[in-house]
Amino acid sequence: ARDLTKIYRMGTVEVRALRGVDVELREGELVVLLGPSGSGKSTLLNILGGLDTPSSGTVIFRGRELALDSERALNLYRRNHVGFVFQFYNLIPSLTARENVSLVTEIARDPMPPPEALAMVGLAERMDHFPAQLSGGEQQRVAIARAIAKRPDLLLCDEPTGALDSKTGILVLDAILRINRELGTTTALITHNAVIAEIANRVLYFADGRIVETRRNAVQRAPAELAW
Ligand code: ATP
Ligand code: MG
Repeated sequence: ARDLTKIYRMGTVEVRALRGVDVELREGELVVLLGPSGSGKSTLLNILGGLDTPSSGTVIFRGRELALDSERALNLYRRNHVGFVFQFYNLIPSLTARENVSLVTEIARDPMPPPEALAMVGLAERMDHFPAQLSGGEQQRVAIARAIAKRPDLLLCDEPTGALDSKTGILVLDAILRINRELGTTTALITHNAVIAEIANRVLYFADGRIVETRRNAVQRAPAELAW
């Protein structure tokens, strides 16, 4: 993306959430976005995923500019190319794990079978459970299976371990890392936790609507080596 700005206007109040952000995610890369509350991380992720549009600037996907003024183009982009994972899993309580994933695979262009997606996150044995019968970490892994079952080019995770304890969070990060490695899915992950940034190829530091520093990790640490 190039020179993104985002201004939220509420009456006479203006919030400048992004103040000129340039960012490039390379194919297959795992990038962590780190920074204080309100620094613009979620705003950027939502724009990269076509959930929101910038006030100015461009988003380029595989060399082509996204038509940010076309709801249809954004819909197709989201549906076929982007998988989202949020802090609170957003599963449908009346559907089993497998059915939650099926909702996405039924409309995707080139889906994987839901059991395959659930097996990738270690939930082959839990497919017919309802969300209320699963732990928080398991529910988050269902949400990850749902996000990847469409075989997205981009996996965007907004604080995926934010609601989980460290031990459970590590299982969730393991699943994300495995998908990044085995499917080659380009991944961007937001966290408040500097320790989690150790799993990334690259870390983008946010402050006040800007990326103020970029660091490449010489060594990518495995989630199991982390503790927080
Ligand atoms: P956190 O770590 O708390 O999730 P963040 O880095 O993800 O923070 P954003 O959610 O991107 O931050 O918010 C950036 C700024 O934009 C904040 O000042 C926030 O209050 C403001 N903001 C975000 N969404 C909206 C909205 N829909 N309407 C108005 N202001 C918003
Ligand atoms: Mg946020």
